[in-house]
Amino acid sequence: MVRARSHLARGTQPPSVRARDEGPPSIAAPAPVSAATRLARAAGDLYGRALGDLLYPTWERLRGRPTFALLDHVERTQWAGLDELHAIQSGALRRLARHAYQHTAFYRQRFDAAGVGPDELRRPEDLARLPLLERQDARASAEARTSTAPPAIAVRKTTGGTTGEPMLIAYSAESRHWRDAMRWRGYGWAGYRPGMRALHFWGFGAQVPKNRLEKLKLDIDRTLRRDLYVDCTPRGEACLADTVAAIESFRPDVIVAYSQAGAALARHVLATGARTWSTIPVVCGAERLFPHDRVALESAFGPAVFETYGCREFMLIGSECEAHDGLHLSMESLIVELLVRERGGGVRAARPGEVGEVVVTDLRNLAAPFIRYVTGDLATARADGQCDCGRWLPRIGPIEGRVSETLRDGAGNPVDGIVFSILATRLAHHTRQFQAVQHLDGTITLKLVPMAPGQALDRHVYHLTAWFAKKYFGGLPITVQPVDDIPTTRAGKRNLVIVEKPGPQR
Ligand SMILES: [Zn+2]
Repeated sequence: MVRARSHLARGTQPPSVRARDEGPPSIAAPAPVSAATRLARAAGDLYGRALGDLLYPTWERLRGRPTFALLDHVERTQWAGLDELHAIQSGALRRLARHAYQHTAFYRQRFDAAGVGPDELRRPEDLARLPLLERQDARASAEARTSTAPPAIAVRKTTGGTTGEPMLIAYSAESRHWRDAMRWRGYGWAGYRPGMRALHFWGFGAQVPKNRLEKLKLDIDRTLRRDLYVDCTPRGEACLADTVAAIESFRPDVIVAYSQAGAALARHVLATGARTWSTIPVVCGAERLFPHDRVALESAFGPAVFETYGCREFMLIGSECEAHDGLHLSMESLIVELLVRERGGGVRAARPGEVGEVVVTDLRNLAAPFIRYVTGDLATARADGQCDCGRWLPRIGPIEGRVSETLRDGAGNPVDGIVFSILATRLAHHTRQFQAVQHLDGTITLKLVPMAPGQALDRHVYHLTAWFAKKYFGGLPITVQPVDDIPTTRAGKRNLVIVEKPGPQR
């Protein structure tokens, strides 16, 4: 019934599309809109171009950051053939292996235990000789993985993830520059260039300035980049309406959004008929993007929807290009393996079309190396080959999201929570949000937010859930609970599956 709203259908024009420069913008949010900006709009956004081409690169140079020189470099290598790309990786890997062996106690011990000399890691496939770096090992080894020789650590931060077990991440200045360059390249495929007006519908907590100088730098940075940050953590209708108002007043050239938050925003725009803009490219990340989310985003913001995949440990790992067929890897800075664990305890590379665990080696962070780090994410492998866009950078995707929690079926057998993505996909036309919770007593509650507030769930939802419970949980009942909203985590994400634990310590 929800789909009956004809103007919401994919590809139809919004009720009214207002020209970008019509009327003065009324700025409610703390948007860095100056007279120069408004003048620039009228002048074909010369100001934006000046920012992107001159001011922002100069600011980066003043801070000693060769971000834009690196960006120029990777803008060129993105068109290289696979041989050249592999040669870049191999060279960086040899340097990383030698450095990690000579200057970190952790990797020296690991290499020795595996019987691998540092000079024997010559090509990406040689990494298979080293063990995986599981998250718990990475957490416990932060100090032992820190290099005793330069480069020094330039950035320290923690990642909490969904496990509630924070991990310290540290990286060198070089690594930061690579991360920034790779992000600009990946975002560039979505048409997002420095100097553009970007609305970030994102979870907060990532950049909290430590002191006034930090805050000043952050403010200059955001002003030069013309970023408007809107917290996507509260996703109620009021917050979504405020975000639409921010779009109206700020008039972004691009929206960067958590995938599920962006999708919720898109559905709000469609349900309220709020679209007054022509196409705004949307760069999604941080959460799973389901096909129906993409349809909603395309209807609300136009066809330029781009998925990205990254994590706090490495920043941008993969990014969708204009061909919209998988995510190209940030190959010049990372080696990404998709691995399947075998029953005997071994691992092998996922075959094309198969889902594997995302395992990353950071080629540019010598300060505290990550070699074969298991990210906890799942993605579908693809065969190597040239993309329709002309690039050879290998692709992965779809991104399946976090390795889910493990639930228990009626007989106590483990069930990977990833199976709930099957149910989520099937229920996509009936619910806006979805979350499965297994309680301490083993019972499962499926929280669903109906398409419209207060709307009764279709009988089909109950039938599908019963079918799913029988097929995957040995008939363990799954209780459907319609709710108005599903809260997000502290990081502003919404987990598909939660398994309640008997306390913080296990
Ligand atoms: Zn491509």
